[in-house]
Amino acid sequence: MSDVLLSVQGLTRRFDVSKPWLNRVIEGEEKQYLTANADVSFEIRRGETFALVGESGSGKSTIAKMIVGLLEASAGVIRFDGQVMDFAQGSAMRVLRRRFQMIFQDPFASLNPRWRVGDIIAEPIRTFGLLRGAEIHAEVGRLLDLVGLSAADAEKFPHEFSGGQRQRIAIARALSSKPEFIVCDEPTSALDVSVQAQILNLMRDLQDEFGLTYLLISHDLSVVRHMSNRIGVLYLGRLVEVADAKRLFTDPQHPYTRMLLDAVPDLALSGRRRTPVTGEIPNPINPPSGCAFHPRCPHVMDICRSTTPEARSTGTGLATCHLLSEGKVAAMDKV
Ligand code: SF4
Repeated sequence: MSDVLLSVQGLTRRFDVSKPWLNRVIEGEEKQYLTANADVSFEIRRGETFALVGESGSGKSTIAKMIVGLLEASAGVIRFDGQVMDFAQGSAMRVLRRRFQMIFQDPFASLNPRWRVGDIIAEPIRTFGLLRGAEIHAEVGRLLDLVGLSAADAEKFPHEFSGGQRQRIAIARALSSKPEFIVCDEPTSALDVSVQAQILNLMRDLQDEFGLTYLLISHDLSVVRHMSNRIGVLYLGRLVEVADAKRLFTDPQHPYTRMLLDAVPDLALSGRRRTPVTGEIPNPINPPSGCAFHPRCPHVMDICRSTTPEARSTGTGLATCHLLSEGKVAAMDKV
């Protein structure tokens, strides 16, 4: 059995953002495309948490949606346990589909307000025909207990719960099909800070108990640090660095990763100066030439404006930056 549970190769998603046909004809404009993700490749090993980080607009959630079939990829291949995921193949995908689930950012929007909690959690069990009758009822009670709620909560409606409790219900629902892999899209960003740690700890406990594999989407580096084994950093829809979590936080190889890390508050009170992230993500309809980060990069060189850097190995992962080929990564420390 391969170590890799999910692999993504050359994943690309373009959106047609053109004006209506008549407007284009009158104004003499071409069609316009927004590239949300371009040529993204990574692997997730069984039992690990792989995180994708980046600012808003970096294309993190688009990748999550393509992996679970909520969005179609424009190009690229996604393999789950060695099998190509083709959501057009209904029956073959149904077997595979049971094995992965998603937890969404907003527990207020992701639970059907008209359904009782018991029906929400039981839906995947019924859809995949895993249990019947009284067994389903017992399983829902067990799942609610597992996420820190009670079996009696199955009779209530989502509006009777707090945000943290709703996310627990969403987790119970995700677990109900007995998945191996869960995509967690900003699972705590809509919650109070005091509740975030409880949900993250619950997710870790469940991962240990059931050997789950997570893809964690987050803009919050403190969440990512707490949860992840490996991390991919996205900028304008492209992966600019992938590394072991420890290495990424102690020895970032890409200037954008460094910029994100420098903006994290110094909770250890080490005296390190916090530097806010500067500049804004450029318009993805008309991205900068060469390295897309060059308008914001403090290390920009002439080559960066004209030539897109290739991904290069960094030991525990890869990074796409001309500093690597020029042997100048250490220069980042001097800024
Ligand atoms: Fe900065 Fe150039 Fe590296 Fe891009 S390729 S991150 S502009 S040094």
